[in-house]
Amino acid sequence: MLDSITIKNAEIIAVGTELLMGQVLNTNAHFLSQRLNEIGVFCFHQAVVGDNVTRLTEQIIMSLSRADLVILTGGLGPTDDDLTMQTVADTIGIQLHFDEESYEKMASFFRATCRMMPENNRKQAFLPSTKDGIILPNDNGTAPGALMWTNYEGANKIIVCLPGPPNELNPMFDKYALPILVKRTSSKLVSKYVHIINVGESKAEIMMKDIIDSQTNPTIATYATTGECKFRITQSFSSEDSENEDKISPIVEIMKERFGDNIYEIADDNNGRSLAKVVVDMLNSKGLTLGFAESLTGGMASSCIVSIPGASSVFYGGIVSYDNSVKENVLGVSREILDTVGPVSSECAMQMAVGAKNTLKTSIAISFTGIAGPAGGTPEKPVGTVFVGIADEKGVDSYELHLRGNRTKIREIAVLKTLDLLRRKLQ
Ligand code: ATP
Repeated sequence: MLDSITIKNAEIIAVGTELLMGQVLNTNAHFLSQRLNEIGVFCFHQAVVGDNVTRLTEQIIMSLSRADLVILTGGLGPTDDDLTMQTVADTIGIQLHFDEESYEKMASFFRATCRMMPENNRKQAFLPSTKDGIILPNDNGTAPGALMWTNYEGANKIIVCLPGPPNELNPMFDKYALPILVKRTSSKLVSKYVHIINVGESKAEIMMKDIIDSQTNPTIATYATTGECKFRITQSFSSEDSENEDKISPIVEIMKERFGDNIYEIADDNNGRSLAKVVVDMLNSKGLTLGFAESLTGGMASSCIVSIPGASSVFYGGIVSYDNSVKENVLGVSREILDTVGPVSSECAMQMAVGAKNTLKTSIAISFTGIAGPAGGTPEKPVGTVFVGIADEKGVDSYELHLRGNRTKIREIAVLKTLDLLRRKLQ
């Protein structure tokens, strides 16, 4: 039966009262919709249902009546309120069987962590037999998942049950469920993601409006995050299309012409490199090292760089120089500068950067000083005024930024814009 199924559309049912009560964010639906989108399966409905057999049964029936594929997440645990697998089995009329192999795997999972397996975990080994489904092993927890098939009102359908914890669900889906599903889709979507900085989402969209309006395949969508925007260009290949006909590259070329070096990354999936990763990679390839002197950002720039795996090869450290005494005593900013033009000035930013470069012994040091608000602004230097200093082997430059937003946003954008300044310098 499985081989006769073509998956065009899917529904996701997240099970768990904690989701309905707002205690847990439904990131599983987010993850699964992205994956379905990538393999060309439309997801027209998503649902969240509490741990209740009647309501879950109603939802499964409703979803089966509309979709070729129904994916359920959560409720595979050992406790009484974990009822997903049994409810699915009862709804589609199949019998669950005790699976010795899965039970043994669970037991060894407990042994590996030096714990006794509680008796109620046995429940998780009741799974569909091979005539009704395929067991999806759980490499990161105890509850196995399952992919089942059923005939619902004359049409063959697939139902997938996955565990709730994302660190179990994500790898299980990618490794065991996706390869089975992908072979049964009728079309394929291919995307490219173009990451842009310094151009807001609405302006970016206007700059591409003629192309966006004239296209149905590929489709072009924009997404905005703090200080950045991203285009997704998605081409759909039906089974009759030639896979060689690339309609995405010509659009990427147009974007390159229109956005120039505001494009910092072009990626094949939604996990393209962040700006910080791009900068770390550039520093790495040039054999350069980096340090910070952070007043306004208070360690945020350091944290942003350290969040990139492998940052240790380029990042030496940062000095949080919030108080003037630290600017003066640790970084060597002159008292005269602090007393005359003040700490929020290009002069101070430059001396901070030079001081950090000398102290940290890096090839490049960057300083941040500014007014994040809500208080502290003046008519000459309103909230959002930021000075950045960049010292390198050639000397030191300063940059004045005027940012808008609340305290957090101003500090975040200061880091982002400065990483972009560094990227341009390194290009
Ligand atoms: P367990 O064996 O851990 O009980 P389970 O498959 O029964 O797993 P649930 O009990 O439903 O899963 O959920 C366990 C945890 O997984 C939740 O407390 C929550 O932290 C996380 N979780 C569940 N559903 C989701 C979801 N849709 N999105 C994100 N996290 C979720």
